[in-house]
Amino acid sequence: MGGTAAISGGVVWLPDHEQMAAHGKTDSPDEAKAYFQSLDHGEMDEAVLGAFVTEARQMHSFLTGIDAIKLTMMPDYPDYYQDRPGAKADGGRSLDNELFDFTALGEWKDRVFQNGPSPRMMLRETPLGGSSGMVDPAILQKRAEQDQRGWGQALVGRLLKACLDRGIEPMLGCGGYRLCVENGRVTGAIVERDGQQKTMTARQGVVLATGGFEWNEALKHAFLRGPLDAPASPPTNKGDGLKMAMAAGAGLGNMTSAWWVPTLAIPESEWQSGETRNMPVLIERTLPHGILVNREGKRFCNEAANYSALAGAFHQFDPATYAYPNLPAYLIFDSHYRERYPLASFMPGTPLPDWVAQAETLEELATKIGVDARNLPATVNRFNDLAERLDDQDFARGKTDYDRFYGDRSRDGAAATLGALTKAPFYAVEIKMGALGTNGGPKTNALAQILDVDGQPIAGLFGAGNVISAPTGSVYAGAGGTLGPALTFGYIAGRAAAKRFNQ
Ligand SMILES: Cc1cc2nc3c(=O)[nH]c(=O)nc-3n(C[C@H](O)[C@H](O)[C@H](O)COP(=O)(O)OP(=O)(O)OC[C@H]3O[C@@H](n4cnc5c(N)ncnc54)[C@H](O)[C@@H]3O)c2cc1C
Repeated sequence: MGGTAAISGGVVWLPDHEQMAAHGKTDSPDEAKAYFQSLDHGEMDEAVLGAFVTEARQMHSFLTGIDAIKLTMMPDYPDYYQDRPGAKADGGRSLDNELFDFTALGEWKDRVFQNGPSPRMMLRETPLGGSSGMVDPAILQKRAEQDQRGWGQALVGRLLKACLDRGIEPMLGCGGYRLCVENGRVTGAIVERDGQQKTMTARQGVVLATGGFEWNEALKHAFLRGPLDAPASPPTNKGDGLKMAMAAGAGLGNMTSAWWVPTLAIPESEWQSGETRNMPVLIERTLPHGILVNREGKRFCNEAANYSALAGAFHQFDPATYAYPNLPAYLIFDSHYRERYPLASFMPGTPLPDWVAQAETLEELATKIGVDARNLPATVNRFNDLAERLDDQDFARGKTDYDRFYGDRSRDGAAATLGALTKAPFYAVEIKMGALGTNGGPKTNALAQILDVDGQPIAGLFGAGNVISAPTGSVYAGAGGTLGPALTFGYIAGRAAAKRFNQ
């Protein structure tokens, strides 16, 4: 119960929401629309985008009013493309979940999916939300005793409670595989539970919300623009909803894209079904005393750039070698980094696992990981020179607020992300191209109705979340840029199905 959302940060990006005014911030659907349209490469539909930026406010107040969400604005979290029209460079559109008391869920408490310890902090109390991560241990202890959880657990927990309070019980372990279509109208779905197939009839319509296809090799190869080897989401997102929609004749959009993120495979951490868990790399590549290099031992990007857009650098294609020169990529860091900052959950002062290569010299390190041993020392020298001048002339790292947001906030300006690699031993770890989920799928209209290949609504079929062609195209607008549209389109789909469009 809960999918990727339950293990996510739970941050929700919403334009023009009610809490902005109290912080002296202004916004409007038009500003948000202008922001997206300035980033559009032809994949956005104006009416669908318009539905998101307009309905987001209603969704927020409706779900808040029925206690199904409880969100608080993170005032300083900047939008990711700060120089674009309509961007909120000083933040305001990203919202964090208040802690939720899981004991309120009764027997459902342990059915919400999680992989690892329950988050006892709100995201805005952690470095990911721009804070120190230091919370009084007595407070944390109390939260643990009361089973209060933050992040995506709080988001899903509250939504589930609101359903249970209204007598709506999810059926777990129940997979949908085919839609039932009668006279051109979707009337239900064939599901499988305990090895038995069953037809479920849907009076109001079927809302597909099965997440993306990032764990389906065939679909990834068929559609995506480049490798997605290490998804950060749970392996339950196999594209079943996409296949159901295709079989019902849906037209597709945004299929080459995903909510890309560089990831680090953690071999000792596995999903229940045995797949290696891949962790999004947001902070490690941004902190001082580290750089990303390719097989040639050369830097190829602003390491601190926003994670979703950064995939473009990983997916660069070399026509001469007919290969991706920046895959695999490596994070190289030195002992200054090691003494100050964590790598995933490995804190300074604790031993690193053996899958992190280390060596006394950069040449030796390069040889160990199969990177050009002549280039790597030259690359590091060049970077050190730029870092000491606090001016990355090669990739402009550290020039924007966003670049510095995930950096070392005890250091001012570009020093939050720029720092030389001078102290041995040196370390290296492979960084893969992953995703938080895919974002292409069946196209919808502004009522979340799924459209057929000719652009006509398929009667009785709706969609929301990563299963559909994202209302915001391939653009990850700011923190919460996937859950904001997903919640809003869930809300739109629910209302439209309740009104029973296309009888
Ligand atoms: C580590 C991490 C952190 C993230 N943090 C954020 C964040 O802070 N803010 C943000 O906006 N985004 C974040 N994301 C991305 C976000 O979590 C996803 O984009 C979002 O959860 C997608 O929602 P969804 O409902 O479409 O899919 P999911 O949340 O993945 O849910 C899909 C559900 O469908 C079920 N399902 C699949 N197939 C079937 C089937 N055939 N029949 C029945 N059920 C099926 C799955 O089991 C699952 O429960 C994060 C992702 C990761 C991995």
